[in-house]
Amino acid sequence: MLHIPAAAWARLLHCSPGQNSPIDDALCAPEPGDWRSPSFGVRRVVLAVLLGIGLLLGSAIVSDGATVAPERVVRIAGHEYLSLREFAARWQMNMRWVRQDEELQLTNGTAKLWFKVNSQKAEVDDISVFLSFPVVLKAGEAHIALRDARDVLMPLLSPARYKPTEKIRTVALFAGHGGKDNGYQVGPEFEKRHTLLLAREVRKKLIERGLKVIMIRDDDRYVQVEDGADAGNRRRADLHVSLHYNSAGPKNPEVQGGETYCYTLPGTPSTNGGSARNNRLEPGDRNSSRNILLAYEIQKAMVRQLGSNDRGVRHAQFVVLKLAEKPAALVEAAFMSNPEEMRRIKDPVHRQRTARAIADGIMSYKRLVGG
Ligand SMILES: [Zn+2]
Repeated sequence: MLHIPAAAWARLLHCSPGQNSPIDDALCAPEPGDWRSPSFGVRRVVLAVLLGIGLLLGSAIVSDGATVAPERVVRIAGHEYLSLREFAARWQMNMRWVRQDEELQLTNGTAKLWFKVNSQKAEVDDISVFLSFPVVLKAGEAHIALRDARDVLMPLLSPARYKPTEKIRTVALFAGHGGKDNGYQVGPEFEKRHTLLLAREVRKKLIERGLKVIMIRDDDRYVQVEDGADAGNRRRADLHVSLHYNSAGPKNPEVQGGETYCYTLPGTPSTNGGSARNNRLEPGDRNSSRNILLAYEIQKAMVRQLGSNDRGVRHAQFVVLKLAEKPAALVEAAFMSNPEEMRRIKDPVHRQRTARAIADGIMSYKRLVGG
């Protein structure tokens, strides 16, 4: 995994909003999920106040940026952006254009980031991660949205910064669909059947690795997604992982690969389109830095172990992610609409490999958060 230089760490640990550069303030801003309060009702009020402060800070950042260093924090298409050169300096990374004004790479001894101008698609150590906003070119400099720097990249670059003593004992596995809800159907194959077969294999692998598993369903029954998330919450799961297979429809048999989703950040658009989320906080926002780390670790393990096409870590407003009170990810392991992937989905040996990759991703997350 990635490590950050000691000097950068020191700056992070000592950052205090209002006493640093505008960029330090922005990158040091508290994350809603880090805040704890006795009940969610109280927490919600606290979060709303914090969000208000955050918005005020945001405007301060812009005005400070305008007087102190106008080129550092800029407003582009209604959002605050930071030059990637600045980001690289902050993280002691070297920046170079892979293709001038089109693709660029940031590297240091342990981490490699890749960005494409006018695209939300980025890579962290060769694994695709979708940003909430595109990287843009302004005055010859590539810029990244502050939200993406803070809420997408930083949780992956420095997991230990957030809740370092999180304990992971129990994982809720939610096999997608069931009962009257078949999920996708390709020929005689129902998604609900294959997600359950996969969930049972993942359960086996997690138990072998010393974790407890809650199966949200362990037979062909219909569970409303709200009830599924609720069951995981009530039974005190430390993580929620939903398992699905994908389809691009009969007209797109060539589309293949794996995707892993985390909950869309407040006020940002989801990866696959639709309108931006509002700023109303949901249970899934409590752990936003962890949601993306969990999704990233699962996606990385699947891509590296299965060699499947990397369709990336994505953001979506799935109900099961929105309602999860602990870190949550949703896996779309492969495309049923791709004949070769459908063959593998049915293959018990490949199913075991997929399950092992997902379990390894969960274990790698567990190691990173110290649990
Ligand atoms: Zn599904």
